[in-house]
This record gives sequence, C-alpha cells and structure tokens, in this order.
Amino acid sequence: MRSLFAVVLCVASFAALSPAADPPAASRPALAVHNDFEGGSAKVLSIDQDAGVVRVQPGGDPKLGWPCWWSFKLTGIDRARTLTIVIDASGLKDHAGKPFDPSWALPARAAWSRDGRTWRQTADGKAGKGSMTYTVEVEAGEAHFAWAEPFTGTTAAEFIRQVAARCKDAQPFVLCRTPGGRDVPAVRFGQPAPGKLGVWVQARQHAWECGSSHVAAGLVHWLAGDDERAAALRRRTCITVVPVMDVDNVAVGAGGKNQPPHDHNRDWSDKPLYASVAAAQKEILSLIRQGGLEVCLDLHNPGKNDREPFFFLPPREQCSDANWADYQRFLAGLRQEMVGPLTYKGRTRESGPKYDPKMWRFMGASWMRQATDGHTVAMTLETPWSLSECSTDNLRRVGRELGLAIELYLRDRRCAAQPAWEKDTMQILFIGNSYTYVNDLPRMLSTLAAAGPRKLRIQTDRQVEGGQSLMGHWNKGQAVEKIRKGGWDFVVLQDQSLTPAMRPQLTKEYAPKLDAEIRKVGATTVFYMTWARKKDPPMIDKLSRTYTEVARELGAAVAPVGLAWKAAIEQRADLELFAADGSHPSPAGTYLAACVFYATLIGEDPTKLPPGAVKAVPAETARFLQTIARDTVTAQAAAPSGLDSPPAPQPRK
Ligand SMILES: [Zn+2]
Repeated sequence: MRSLFAVVLCVASFAALSPAADPPAASRPALAVHNDFEGGSAKVLSIDQDAGVVRVQPGGDPKLGWPCWWSFKLTGIDRARTLTIVIDASGLKDHAGKPFDPSWALPARAAWSRDGRTWRQTADGKAGKGSMTYTVEVEAGEAHFAWAEPFTGTTAAEFIRQVAARCKDAQPFVLCRTPGGRDVPAVRFGQPAPGKLGVWVQARQHAWECGSSHVAAGLVHWLAGDDERAAALRRRTCITVVPVMDVDNVAVGAGGKNQPPHDHNRDWSDKPLYASVAAAQKEILSLIRQGGLEVCLDLHNPGKNDREPFFFLPPREQCSDANWADYQRFLAGLRQEMVGPLTYKGRTRESGPKYDPKMWRFMGASWMRQATDGHTVAMTLETPWSLSECSTDNLRRVGRELGLAIELYLRDRRCAAQPAWEKDTMQILFIGNSYTYVNDLPRMLSTLAAAGPRKLRIQTDRQVEGGQSLMGHWNKGQAVEKIRKGGWDFVVLQDQSLTPAMRPQLTKEYAPKLDAEIRKVGATTVFYMTWARKKDPPMIDKLSRTYTEVARELGAAVAPVGLAWKAAIEQRADLELFAADGSHPSPAGTYLAACVFYATLIGEDPTKLPPGAVKAVPAETARFLQTIARDTVTAQAAAPSGLDSPPAPQPRK
C-alpha cells in the first residue's frame, strides 16, 4: 500500500547558476511535488527547476487497482511563470506486473487549481509516447494538478452538507464506515413509503472514475434546487445518491478498477467483500420493501475512445417485454434531455454474460435488476472523460440532464407493485392493546380516509387485548392466525406501552417473528409508535429509538404517533391528549394517532382532511393536530438513518 505518511518528493536541479537578476538558486524556493493529502497520487520522475518542467507518474499502488489516477500539489513556485507538467505513464504495470495501458492516465485536459478548491481545465495537452504534456501559466505560490477535479469522500460529505443546508428535502446520511475508517456519505431526497417511486444512484465503484462523482454531484445539485421539475420529482419519489462508493481507494489515490481478488463492481454477491457494497445492498433491499425501486443507476467512466455518454443495458432476452419498453422509454427521454455539450445520442451496450461471462451476475446493475424483480430500469451510465469537453461543469450538466430524464420517465409512472394506497380499498389488521381500541383508532382511521379527497375505503380487523404485548400475541397464537388469513395490505404492530422503553429486547425479539409471518402473506408491517406516559415525557426517546431501530432492521414502516404527541404537547400544553389516567388517549389523542396513520399509510397530507369528520374533536383542534401529524411524518421519514429521533417539527409561521 502506498505510504500514508507525509511524502515530499523533490529533485533539486544542479543546473548552471541563474542569471544575475535572479537570487542565487540555493536561496530560491525549489519546486516540490507533494502527495500527502486525501486522493494525492504522484511519483516524481524529474523536476527541472530552471525550465519549470515537472515530470511525474501516477503513484497509486497497482494492488489497489489500475494505477491511472494522479493528483499532486506543487510548491516552491517563486514567480509567475510557465510550468510544464508531463504525465509520463509509459512504465506503469498492473497488479499482475503486466504493462498498463498509459492512455488511461492521460485526459486531453488536466485539471488545475491555485488553492485546491477552485479548479479549471488546462489547455489541451500534447500527446507523446505514453505521456501527455500540459502547459500552465501560474502565479507565484503553489498549484494543484490532477487527472480531473478531485472528488473524495470528504468532498462528498461537505457537498452534501451544503446541499442539505439549502434544501430541506435533502437528508444526509452515512451509508457505512469503511475498513479504512472513513465514512461513505450519501444523501436522500424524500421518504421511502409504500407507493413512493424509488430511485437509487451510485457513483465511483471504480475509484479512478472521478468524473462519475461530478455527474452524481450535478444530479444532487439540480435535485436540491428551485427547478419546478426537481421539486416535482422530490415530492413524488424517494431518491438516494451515493457520490463515492470506493471511498478508501479514492482517499489513497488508488484506481480501484480490477483490484484483486475483484473490484467493487464485481462484488455484488451474497457475501460482498466491501463494506459499501454490503451497505448499499441492504439499503436497496430495504427501499424495495418499503416502497419499491423504479430506477437504479451506476455511474462510471468508460474507455478513452468513448466520445459520448452511453448506457450498459441488460441483454434483451433477460427482460420482459414491458420491462424492455420501460428501458426504451427512459432512453428516449435521455435523448430528449441530455443535450450536451456531452450529448446522449442513443448509444447502448449490452452488459450480462456477453460482457463478462464469469462475473456479470456480480456487477452492480445486474444485482439491482435481480433484486428488483425485473420491473426496474437498472443501467450503467458511462460518461466520457478523455475529451476537451469533459470539464467539471459539463460533467455536472450531464447529472442535471440525467435528473430531468428521470423526472420525465417517472412523471406518469405508477408503482409496478400496485401498493395499497393506489387501490380504492385498503385492508389493515391491527395487533395491539387498549392504545389501539380505546376510542377505536381503526374505525377513526377509516372515517378519516372515507372523508378525505380520495374517498378511500379502509377495512380493518383487529387482534387486541388489554395490556397485551407483542410477546403475548405471539405466544397466544390468535394474532398469527389472523395474519395468515391473508389479504392484508398492512399489519400494524403495537407493543405494550412500556415494553419498548423498559424492555426493548422483547420488542426486538418478537417483532421480527410477527414480521416474518406478515411478509409471508405479502403484507407490509407498520409499527405503531405509542407515546410517553403523561408523568414521564422523556420516555418517548426510548420508545422512538426502539421502534425506529426495529423497523429499519426489518425494512418496515413506522407511524410516529408518539413523536407527534410530543410535538403537540410542546406546542399546545392546554390541549388534553390524555384520558384521566395519564396513559390512555383522549379522543383528540386518538385523532392525532389516526392522522399520523393516514399520512404514513396513504402517503397523503392529513391537512387536506375535512376538520369536522370526527365529531368528538372540535374543528380548530383537528386542524392543529392534522398539521402536527403531517410535519411529524415528514420529519420522521426524512431521517434515513432511522436511529435518531428526528427534530420535533417547528410551528409554522
Ligand atoms: Zn467503472
């Protein structure tokens, strides 16, 4: 592995003394190449101090994949001058010791920067034998040079933080931590929910393919912006973007591609080697269970001679007619939206057995397609990097245009799985105790749904018993019998009101047993997060933690009723959500629970419900509780880690 300690590589020039006007060579700062930073990679071949010619070779360890990436800082620039940067990749070897094609290291234009933050392109380089020569006018000080504008794990985290600061729908999360101890940053727009259209985009399974991270960043930047079509997409979908998958190799300046025993994009088996692949698989499966995935995109950079963006598609014979038609429709949209300067002209290539007979199953897009039961569009986008046009701005533009094409594709699309809320009638089984049956929560939910804009029919059944827990329901068996009758869209699980706070291990032991039964009949599990006792408000932290953890583990949904109660009590202390015993709900308390279920299960805004639908709750109170329910469900859904209580919704100005 390349050494991680500071390396300063400097080859002093012992040329003849400089002209009299210059200070003596010995007292002048000498040009020096540094690679001791995240993503740094360069090996100095020679430095001609007087002529300002710096000759370097990519420095990545071939055991960590193709040694084509380079990035370094040059210090000791004592005056404004012309520098000649020669990237000499002629002697490179791959991990097996075979000669490595130098052209992978030689883009038409390099990227350079004064401060390592603001980058621009050089002029076109001059190609030599296995080398490229870039000429740059610089001012005194230091300058950075790289294969392309660097984009590391740290860049991704900072970029996502900035995006989240200006777009409330953008939720940063950490996909996983790598063996190198680094975070893999990711961002999600919108909530996974039954009936929500899901999109998964990841970049940089091959560390050297820096351009694909800029495409991902362009997509995220557009998504977070004011464009009406971006806002529409955010509303309708749940989109996750991982800008850098192979964070470790990116950090040490290695290429990643063909890293033995196999690289990230051949790691999509049941037992992945790489933490980010394992975490992505888990996340994708959880998204499929929560709402479904319609579009999966793996972003790459292609070979040097590929001069326009193109897509790898699965073989035609592996797709149903309907699925193939979806691919064609998506590609047609791409032709319409991706207009350049990097223009999509309709080119595709086939992945699958013809592309890699041995490993095709274990490639990202193949795995995604298999995981999503074949109704999904799962493709690899290859964006060129070798041309003069491949500036950061143009790569980001590809990302934006990709977003527009996704919006166009999903505009009229409904979930292939026909989730419950798109039907007219919904079947729900409630399993719980008095927190469910006092004031008849199931019936109140049906009343609200019937009064709402969609006039939805909710038919319910229940297995309820005073003080009962999930453990008790499991052991007694009637709950499982009811689940097995089948026909449910959702099964709601409510544990005994103290158990998730006082004995969370019991919730975590029995919820999965019931969930497994629910899954067998094709229904979705929804946890009913209950509220803290009146005399013990902090109890909600433990309750919400247990329910969200268990739901995340199972890929189930949570109706965050307890968090809505907390927010309502904080804002309106005068409002009584409790019955006289300080434990059970008043009609207003049950009304709030019903609104939270309405928002969670149907995915619609409870503030659109007529406030007079439930007689026991005054209209003014109903309006307030509807708003609390909407804001709580939005905030809860926007916390993809699921491990922290979302912030309580703030009162609207
Ligand atoms: Zn690749």
